[in-house]
Amino acid sequence: MRWIDRGPEPDGVAGYAQQFTQGWVDYFQNRVGERPTDHYWGEFRSALGSWSNNICWYCERQCDGEGELDPTVDNFRPRSRFPELVYAWSNWIFSCYRCNYAKLDKWPETGYVDPCAEDPSERPEQYFDYNVVTGEIIPREGLSETARRKALNTIDDLDLNNLGLLEARLERTKEFYELLQKTPASERQAVIDQHVDRPVEHAGVIRMFVENLRRDGVI
Ligand SMILES: [Zn+2]
Repeated sequence: MRWIDRGPEPDGVAGYAQQFTQGWVDYFQNRVGERPTDHYWGEFRSALGSWSNNICWYCERQCDGEGELDPTVDNFRPRSRFPELVYAWSNWIFSCYRCNYAKLDKWPETGYVDPCAEDPSERPEQYFDYNVVTGEIIPREGLSETARRKALNTIDDLDLNNLGLLEARLERTKEFYELLQKTPASERQAVIDQHVDRPVEHAGVIRMFVENLRRDGVI
C-alpha cells in the first residue's frame, strides 16, 4: 500500500450528497424507511481509478479484469456505520472487488490505515514494512501498540498476505532487484525513481523493498 492523492472533488458529488445522504442516515442511523438503492459513487470510479492507473489502492493489483479484479468504489468508513459519509469524496477508495468484499462493513476500533490520509503521519508509509523473504506486508517496527493493531487489522481484514499476493510481490521485487543489479551505481537512483511511488503494480512494495536494501547497506 502507498499513499494516493485522491485529487480534488469532481463536479456532481456535492449534488448527490445533498440529495441522497439523508436517506442513508435515516436508514442506518435513525432506523427509518427502506434501505436506499442509490449507488451513484460508482459514477466516479473512473475518476478515482485515474489517480492510480486503475491499481487497487489496498492490494496494488491492476483492476482491469472481472471477478476478483473487477474495479469498485469502496466506502472506506462503511455505509452501515458512517452513513453521513456515504457521498463524501474523502471516503471513497478505488478498490478491487476482492479487497472491497473482504472488508465489507467491518470497522475495528482502531479503524484501518487510510491510503489517502491527509496527515503525513497517518499514511501507509508510516505503518507498513515488507518482509523480503516471505513477501509479507508487516507492521513497521517502533509503532505504538494502537498503531500496530491498526496495521495488523488492515492486513488481516483485507487479507493482504494471501498466497497470490505474496507470490506477486516476490516476483515483482525479484525482477526489480535483477534490474538494479544490472544498472551502474550512478544510474540506480533514476531506476528507483521509475519504480517507486508510481502508478504501477506493487509500487508501494518496491518502495519498502528499497528502504530495506538501503537499511541493510546493499545499495
Ligand atoms: Zn485490492
